[in-house]
Amino acid sequence: MANDNVIEAVGLTKRFGTFTAVDHISFSVGRGEIFGFLGANGAGKTTAMRMLCGLSRPTEGGAIVAGCNIVSQPEGVKRNIGYMSQRFSLYEDLSVKENIRLFAGIYRVKEREIAPRTETVLKRLGIYDERDTQVKRLPLGWKQKLAFSVAIFHEPKIVFLDEPTGGVDPVARRQFWEMIYEAVERGITVFVTTHYMDEAEYCDRVSIMVDGRIGALDTPGNLKWLYGAETMDEVFFRIARGAKRGE
Ligand code: ATP
Repeated sequence: MANDNVIEAVGLTKRFGTFTAVDHISFSVGRGEIFGFLGANGAGKTTAMRMLCGLSRPTEGGAIVAGCNIVSQPEGVKRNIGYMSQRFSLYEDLSVKENIRLFAGIYRVKEREIAPRTETVLKRLGIYDERDTQVKRLPLGWKQKLAFSVAIFHEPKIVFLDEPTGGVDPVARRQFWEMIYEAVERGITVFVTTHYMDEAEYCDRVSIMVDGRIGALDTPGNLKWLYGAETMDEVFFRIARGAKRGE
């Protein structure tokens, strides 16, 4: 890539029939950034994210993600990214270790690297003693951390997280964010959607989608300054209140 951006999206658009879910969005994300992707329910976040992950083809426009074109090289995109969906895809009946092994295979991690990396991940997560426990027996906060570890097991250039901390308390959310920071330190870029405004504060830059478009994009500090707001909650409310799509 000529520059250091991990995402360059230009006019990215998705229509379902006559309905435009994502409407000509353009933005870039730099290497090592934590990029927050916010918006009310139905604003178009998941649809945009699925296109960026090479899982859905844009109707118009496009993007380069991790050096690959999402339209002409979707398989290249998939190899170079990690993705943790809202209903993260761990296998509940398999053990912690078996899940790691399975995803390592899917992401084509070299055989000789799987065992040592698994060891590192289990220790990092603090669940080494639970390695043979079935995933369904783990608390939700642990499952989320495991799903994240699995999504970055192959050390992708960027990881996409779709509401990764839904349903857990602020302490578990904070712990999850510590893992995000560690991943960033290892050079992984993070693209994250969230409904929690405390999490928006942890991002380097935040984009707020309104009815398929980007209503605002800047650092949390600049957004608060621009909108004369004390909190990101207030910024979000001001930008999103004009939205036609709603809860
Ligand atoms: P949430 O936070 O609720 O996940 P979101 O911002 O991720 O919301 P999307 O799931 O991207 O929003 O949906 C954007 C809009 O596109 C919604 O109005 C949704 O109903 C519509 N939509 C999404 N997928 C399809 C589809 N396959 N067919 C038709 N409409 C769709």
